[in-house]
Amino acid sequence: MAKKIFKSIMAVAAAVLIASLVIIMGCLYRYFSDVQGKQLEDELTLAIAAVEENGKEYLEGLQSSQYRLTWVAENGVVLYDTWFDMEEMENHGDREEIRQALQSREGKSSRYSTTLLEKTLYCARRLKDGSVLRISISSVTIWVLVLGMLQPIFIVIVVALILSGVLASRISKHIMEPLNSLDLEKPLENETYEELAPLLNRINKQRRQIERQLSELQRKNDEFAQITDGMTEGLVLLNEKNMVLNINPAALKLFHASNSCRGKDFLTVERSQDINRAIQDAFSGGHSEIRIEREGKEYQIHINRIESNGAVIGAVVLAFDITEAAFAERNRREFTANVSHELKTPLQTIMGSAELMENGLVKPEDMTRFVGHIRTEAGRLVTLIDDIIRLSRLDEGCNVPFEQIDLYKIATEVVAGLENMADQKDIQVTVTGEKVNIISVRQLLTEIIFNLCENAIKYNTDGGTVEVSIERQRNYAVLSVKDSGIGILPEHQERVFERFYRVDKSRSKESGGTGLGLSIVKHAVQYLNGKIDLESRPGEGTIIRIFLELLEE
Ligand code: ADP
Repeated sequence: MAKKIFKSIMAVAAAVLIASLVIIMGCLYRYFSDVQGKQLEDELTLAIAAVEENGKEYLEGLQSSQYRLTWVAENGVVLYDTWFDMEEMENHGDREEIRQALQSREGKSSRYSTTLLEKTLYCARRLKDGSVLRISISSVTIWVLVLGMLQPIFIVIVVALILSGVLASRISKHIMEPLNSLDLEKPLENETYEELAPLLNRINKQRRQIERQLSELQRKNDEFAQITDGMTEGLVLLNEKNMVLNINPAALKLFHASNSCRGKDFLTVERSQDINRAIQDAFSGGHSEIRIEREGKEYQIHINRIESNGAVIGAVVLAFDITEAAFAERNRREFTANVSHELKTPLQTIMGSAELMENGLVKPEDMTRFVGHIRTEAGRLVTLIDDIIRLSRLDEGCNVPFEQIDLYKIATEVVAGLENMADQKDIQVTVTGEKVNIISVRQLLTEIIFNLCENAIKYNTDGGTVEVSIERQRNYAVLSVKDSGIGILPEHQERVFERFYRVDKSRSKESGGTGLGLSIVKHAVQYLNGKIDLESRPGEGTIIRIFLELLEE
């Protein structure tokens, strides 16, 4: 702006200078012309007086290199000329000044020479005898005047321009100073040009508006940050150039990135081709999904394109931890497959035996054995279905009432029910410990103790022992079932609680096992908020402890 002001001042100064020079030159020229015209008239008056008195003689005696006198008769014939030979001169009756003088006593005119640099002024007056005396002088034109004054004009121009330059620079600085020192943070507190008041008012208004909008934006940002920071889902906002605009802590953790990744290409955060391809798919198709595995966890990633006024402005990446859901889904699928398989095997045996009997292929003496088969398999089916029903009830969270139960008493009852089974294998089952009252679910406790004791007998050696003990340990009631059986190899110990998992399938089947017993125990203990601990040595035996919270009486 200072430059513009400087230039404007210089332009004005130059224009004023030129105009002044033109006017001065014009005035000077006019002044000199007037003076010269006056002189010419005076000279003519004198010459007329002399010619009227002395006639031609006066003119002949006149020797002037400045003035030229021409005496012209009424008919235009030149009577005498002080510079030229009148014989050779043509009729002057058509000359403008002569014509005027003949008509109205006096005439004036001027004519340029061929070069325009010289001009001749004519002044003519009629004499008493009707003839006309003309005086002429050659005068310089304005151009000659200008040329003659070129040097001083040049000096004036240079001096004026230097002066204008210095002044213009000072003035522009002076004008700019208050503008440069404007405090736009506090527009209304400035003491500056009055003319700026409306502008400063407007700036102040806009500042307030911007401040309001900024704080609103900040508030929204904070809200957004609070929401996204607390999210367990990973969230990444990308712009249309795949740059990270925002990323929440869950996503930072998932992609092993740091806060500095904001503003960088998402490729620098996550190099996985699959994810980046999915993002590109979302950019082109609007939405895409992908499942990934990270550190033993499964994530479902949804990517949605963001549009504004029909233009793509970015994408939002949402990562859900679906580990549990995927695990549950897998479990459900496995469970269904297992159930079908487990149901099919005994049914096939039943069908096979029944068909043989139907077709008369079974000898009468074998009939009892076959019917026995069918009964055993049917029994197995019933047990299996019972177990599945129990499990599904536990899965759904059975709504059975909690009541005060004596754990010792319930253990003795269950053991009594298994007496026959134990006797068959000559196994000695003992219950030791003390009366421990807990708030629990009778049916679930019975199932837990039954399954543990049944396994302790099933997977025991003939003549072995099973020790059931009930005791208090700080805040827990501890039920332990210890057997002197075959034990479980370390690699199976974790897995025996899975549904349908059996270490030795044939042995389990032989003893009527469904592979669901320990799984029911696990679920029931979980339902009762308890804990399970398994300790086993192959060939020596197994001890399973159940810890149930003791409520203060
Ligand atoms: P099952 O109906 O086959 O007994 P469980 O879920 O009760 O199914 O047990 C799973 C597997 O764990 C059994 O098949 C068996 O191999 C093993 N198991 C359970 N309890 C014992 C134990 N007390 N001693 C040795 N092995 C055991």
